[in-house]
Amino acid sequence: MCEFCHKHGEGKKWYLQAQNYSEDLLSDLRRRKFIQDFIRSPDHVAEGMEGLERLARAPSFVRSVITPIAVNRQKKAHYGQVLPIEEVERVFAFVNSVVRLPCICRQAMVGSEQRYCYGVSMVPQKESRLTQILRETDASYLNGPDTGGLEALSKEEALASLRELEKKGLCHTVWTFITPFIGGICNCDRSDCGAMRATITHNFPVMFRAEYVAEVHPELCNGCRQCMRVCQFGAMGYSIAHEKVVIDPRRCYGCGICRSLCTKDAIVLAERSAVPLARGVW
Ligand code: SF4
Ligand code: SF4
Repeated sequence: MCEFCHKHGEGKKWYLQAQNYSEDLLSDLRRRKFIQDFIRSPDHVAEGMEGLERLARAPSFVRSVITPIAVNRQKKAHYGQVLPIEEVERVFAFVNSVVRLPCICRQAMVGSEQRYCYGVSMVPQKESRLTQILRETDASYLNGPDTGGLEALSKEEALASLRELEKKGLCHTVWTFITPFIGGICNCDRSDCGAMRATITHNFPVMFRAEYVAEVHPELCNGCRQCMRVCQFGAMGYSIAHEKVVIDPRRCYGCGICRSLCTKDAIVLAERSAVPLARGVW
């Protein structure tokens, strides 16, 4: 279990805890403003990347002081985790709405609108002071967030589209908007996504690895290497001696994207906690 599971999930997978989605942005003006600013201004992503480039050039003692402070701040505001598709499916099973949005990272990094992000939300699960107030003042809120003007998708449409993106090698990630409120699922790749570049290239983590690790069943693998084309984390190698693919559990992020390219069903995901070399590597 990652740090967020302990802090925000009571020891269970934090992103599967409905309450982490249910305090919708309408319930919190500070969060609402945070999301609006985030979506409207791709400049902050570009500025963040420039900051990371500067940090990478700084002396190592400066990096060792600044990085943990900045990462900690990021964890409180906007932090992610890699999710395999079956976990996205579990998230979609309980949210009320899914809307497709332009990806802010790509807008900043590539300069064009590409709809790779999926906003998710749900109404509060338990009767609370908040729901009482809303019931008295604006009962429409309890029917779910207003998705008018946004590209609303059914959960089936959204899942089908995510599976297509997976075939292209994009990795699913879940994101907080003022932690622990979870506002979206994104589809990341190393070349265009600021979050992945920050985490992998600049060693400035803004997302956890998945709660899983990929494993190859050697008896099923025919050595075609199709899976290797899509691993963005450098976790796969090829054994010439055995003519099979091998996965390094210390580098695997557990995204499961390699699995979707394997026609032999030779790749499975194991719980990270059950793999000694990967346990505790986030
Ligand atoms: S795609 Fe499947 S069969 Fe081909 S190398 Fe990868 S694991 Fe082996
Ligand atoms: S080896 Fe791990 S990190 Fe690489 S694609 Fe497969 S699941 Fe993702």
